[in-house]
Amino acid sequence: MKEPSSFILGFDTFTTYHHNKNVMVTGMIGKAKPVTPELQSAMFRCEMCGKLINVPQGGGKCSLLRPECCTNKNCKSTKPSFTFMQERSKFSNYQEVWLKPMDEPRLRLGQGQKIILKKDLVGVKEGESVLVKGKLGFELIGKTNLAIPIVLASEIQQLDKD
Ligand SMILES: [Zn+2]
Repeated sequence: MKEPSSFILGFDTFTTYHHNKNVMVTGMIGKAKPVTPELQSAMFRCEMCGKLINVPQGGGKCSLLRPECCTNKNCKSTKPSFTFMQERSKFSNYQEVWLKPMDEPRLRLGQGQKIILKKDLVGVKEGESVLVKGKLGFELIGKTNLAIPIVLASEIQQLDKD
């Protein structure tokens, strides 16, 4: 298979050098979490004047971003309070999966490479062999400064089993 050289092929070898670079990994889905809705943009209503305010969200496990102030210039609110409006907010699909090397011995420990699938890329199942292209990002571990490399997928292809 010929692939554009702009994609770096890796597995368990990603370092800070690869941050934000285009990467490509192949392997078997070792673990797949259920597809879940992810908040894309949140709609809020100002409790004082009723103005609707749309706030784009960070995605994934980011905290809910709320408006800082009312965007209505005539609003009399000094201590603004906003109500989240779920039915007016925008959600899309989100799934976390872990890829294991194709030739990995069954007893090897470790979860493998974490992959984030969004929108129409979701729906892969454990045991499927795939090729994933995407961008390498780092996900902080808890509230620490340490991070694990994750691949934000832009493309996923099923590979034929032998
Ligand atoms: Zn207001």
